[in-house]
Amino acid sequence: MGATLTGAVVAALVLAAVAPAHAAGPGPAGFGDPYYPLAGGGGYDVGHYDLRLAYEPATDVLTGTTTVRLTTTTGLSSVNFDFALPVRSARVNGRDVGFAQHDHELLVGAGGDVPAGTELTFVIGYSASPSDTHAEVPVTRWKRTPDGALAIAAPTMSPWWYPSNDHPGDKATYDVSITVPDGVEAISNGELLGTYPRGDGRTTWGWFSGEPQTTYATFLAIGQFDVRRSTTGDGRRVLTAYSTALSGTAARESVERTPELVRFLEGRFGPYPFADLGGLVTPHTSSALETRTRPAYPARAFRDGPNTYVVVHELAHQWFGNSVSMSRWSDIWLGEGFATYAEWLWSEANGQGTARELADWTHRHYPADHEVWDVAVADPTPRYQYGAAVHERGALALQALRTEVGDEVFFRTLRTWAGRGAGGHGTSVGFAALAEEVAGRDLDGLFGTWVFGAGKPVLATAVAAEPASFRQVHRR
Ligand SMILES: [Zn+2]
Repeated sequence: MGATLTGAVVAALVLAAVAPAHAAGPGPAGFGDPYYPLAGGGGYDVGHYDLRLAYEPATDVLTGTTTVRLTTTTGLSSVNFDFALPVRSARVNGRDVGFAQHDHELLVGAGGDVPAGTELTFVIGYSASPSDTHAEVPVTRWKRTPDGALAIAAPTMSPWWYPSNDHPGDKATYDVSITVPDGVEAISNGELLGTYPRGDGRTTWGWFSGEPQTTYATFLAIGQFDVRRSTTGDGRRVLTAYSTALSGTAARESVERTPELVRFLEGRFGPYPFADLGGLVTPHTSSALETRTRPAYPARAFRDGPNTYVVVHELAHQWFGNSVSMSRWSDIWLGEGFATYAEWLWSEANGQGTARELADWTHRHYPADHEVWDVAVADPTPRYQYGAAVHERGALALQALRTEVGDEVFFRTLRTWAGRGAGGHGTSVGFAALAEEVAGRDLDGLFGTWVFGAGKPVLATAVAAEPASFRQVHRR
């Protein structure tokens, strides 16, 4: 089977898989997220992805072999990945196996019925133009640019460049090797192991992410970039990349302050969670994304001059979102609310409006009948998962907590959350429980009002006017 198959054929394959007596059956078609039932797959946990890719910008052809090492968590006869490009071959533990594709779903045989706790190594081969759309997969998130391509998007990007368990609940380590024409840069997450000329007019860039990483925070940027490398005083690797199509110096002036801004955030949240840091700026994306260790910034974030707020926001996500990751998409405020609050802390530290003032102004900015109050912060629905309902209201919830418990308990709560959850996952209920533990008292009323309930709460502060810096703080 090599072609994209129809749903009927997938169904037939599934039925065939469950026919034998005592068969384990195919793994679940999704990770189990109510917002995106088909995102990811069930019954397994990925430990490591090894991507060996080659991309030709002139033709937009991506040729890849992705190795996925996983452990089953239930008995199953096939594994469900997310992948939109047509697959050419599939092997498991060294043997060819059957596979089928439908929409973004890739079903690969496990080589028979295997019990829970089985280690499986899948090797999946493909070669396609990721920009192509067709009836089976009518959209693409792969972005061809004048000088290369970008794979930078949330909540889903991986199906257009590698097969994966595309859900933040299953993090893994990564090797990403990408071969491009000589003179073209290929940037990804984590440590740059090296660049290796192949002698045929192409060079391979090798990247390693040794800390667990979500699929949506995994990225690839191919094109003409100025790459800068340095080391911080405490030994962390810094790598920044700036598209040569950028004009002006505002982006560099802002993103080159990354080590300083990381130190600022360490003072509030505890140690930076990763060995690498940096950033990437391109005019070919429209919004910033907290890609792990190396956030991606759109050129337009710096169109009015230097902007450290967007950098602080994406860096705060390295603690909240990338180190302590959400278990379900409904908990996205545990990243966005915290990253927005980090902007308020940066404003406070710079005398450009305290967090309390910004909270008060934000609270008054949205009238009680505004739709931003229609959902709970901890359950924004997919429609509002990237809006003010999680960003500003999430930050408001943190300010309400800070006002209630005081600065010492508040910041100890954030540091404990980041420390205990490092490399893992958190939930809204878990954060509320931790806040109660650190405070030593019940906070059900506060969390019920600000996090788990809809509607506009009363905020017990009042300042006279919009802080002068407000517009700047919210420019991103
Ligand atoms: Zn964010």
